Amino acid sequence: MSARAALAPAERRFLALSAMLFALAVALLAYSWQALAPRPVGVIEGLGFLAFSLFAIFCGFRHPDFGYVSFDRVAQFGALLMLDPANAAAVNMLASFLYPWQRLRQGEPVPLVLASALGNAAMMGLVILVGGLVYLGLAGELPLGALDNRTLLPLLGMAVVAHVLNDLLMALLQYARGQRARRGIDNFAFSIEMLSFVVAALFAVIWARGTLLEATLFTAVLCLGMWQLRHLGLLRLQLESLVDQRTRDLRRKSDQLEQLTLTDELTGLRNRRFAELRLEEEVEGARRRGEGLCVALGDLDHFKAINDEHSHAAGDEALRRVATSFHSHTRREDVVARYGGEEFIFLFPGLALDDAATTCERLRAAIEALNLRDVDSRLSLSVSFGVAEWQGEAATDLLRRADRALYAAKNAGRNRVERAARGSAAPVDTLGGAGLAP
Ligand code: GH3
Ligand code: MG
Ligand code: MG
Repeated sequence: MSARAALAPAERRFLALSAMLFALAVALLAYSWQALAPRPVGVIEGLGFLAFSLFAIFCGFRHPDFGYVSFDRVAQFGALLMLDPANAAAVNMLASFLYPWQRLRQGEPVPLVLASALGNAAMMGLVILVGGLVYLGLAGELPLGALDNRTLLPLLGMAVVAHVLNDLLMALLQYARGQRARRGIDNFAFSIEMLSFVVAALFAVIWARGTLLEATLFTAVLCLGMWQLRHLGLLRLQLESLVDQRTRDLRRKSDQLEQLTLTDELTGLRNRRFAELRLEEEVEGARRRGEGLCVALGDLDHFKAINDEHSHAAGDEALRRVATSFHSHTRREDVVARYGGEEFIFLFPGLALDDAATTCERLRAAIEALNLRDVDSRLSLSVSFGVAEWQGEAATDLLRRADRALYAAKNAGRNRVERAARGSAAPVDTLGGAGLAP
């Protein structure tokens, strides 16, 4: 696969912008080199700065909100204040260019790693060179030998310009890559950045003024601190992913538990609690949308006799078969629930009374035709229905009218569908037919 083909358009834009910024940084580096004519840095010294810079980048960690966080500014501006902008930029550009290549091991495509390497190196180069030129422009001394009133302004100017430029370049690269840039200044990233400038200044002063042992010890403490920062950062990420995992598990378990509390154990249908909650919602929905809604109550006829004449187990199996039949003869959007004992409730959203009564008639016929010979050769069932259409009243009133219609169906001889009269229902003592006449 060619490099072009491996990259999405946004990634190609990112590569192109990175290469352009890199060229700009190299040009500014060449200019600074000529203009500043810095003293050449020895191989050992150069390698030392390079290693320190790589270590500082390595000690970063991916923060969930702020991207990659590290104290790499300490290495960059420490080098600047101990050496000069040109040498510091060269060393740190090299470190930033080298570091991303370890991502090849995670299978990242070469062109993308190259884009990151060029982009990072360009950013480091430009930030150090521009920050360094501001520092020199404000009469900052090199190497930095003391922190006093005179050095405060150049250091502050350098830090602010470097920080702003860094954020601008970062936003530009993220934009080219099609990622959403962080908006505004966030306190965390800003404090880390400013703290890094202070540590970089102390680092430079100690190397300029302290004994070799003091400077070495300070560097060791610094490295240990950076290492601990990485450790804490990774620990935080691990903890967060653990908490996420546990939260997902708990949510799944609580969903399962909720399902259990809303399901009827014997038939697997929804239970009364579910039906009543849903009825409230459906009434609200019907009110909002101005649509129809019907409720039906179905009660198996003479079910007590079935238990008595056959067996309780046969009664249970009959209830399960009835539930399956009800379920298969209703629409997906209808609600079928076991209301209690041998009573069932049906919610028919969007249906007018005629259509709901037709559905109940179909359900009634299906129960009448139910083949239960394998349960008990003499077993047959029938069901009576009361169906009511919502008239703008509260859910309990609607239920009460359906219950009265069921009562009427029982009185009229059972195995039939009775429609609720329009108008207000006379209150009955209990809901769900518990008080039905035999
Ligand atoms: P009606 O036509 O008036 O509704 O008469 P019915 O016998 O069905 O009404 P009744 O309310 O007198 O009796 C209901 C019976 O339903 C009583 C009870 O034994 C039976 N029943 C309720 N729940 C269950 C259950 O989970 N399993 C079994 N096997 N029977 C149940
Ligand atoms: Mg009953
Ligand atoms: Mg009954």
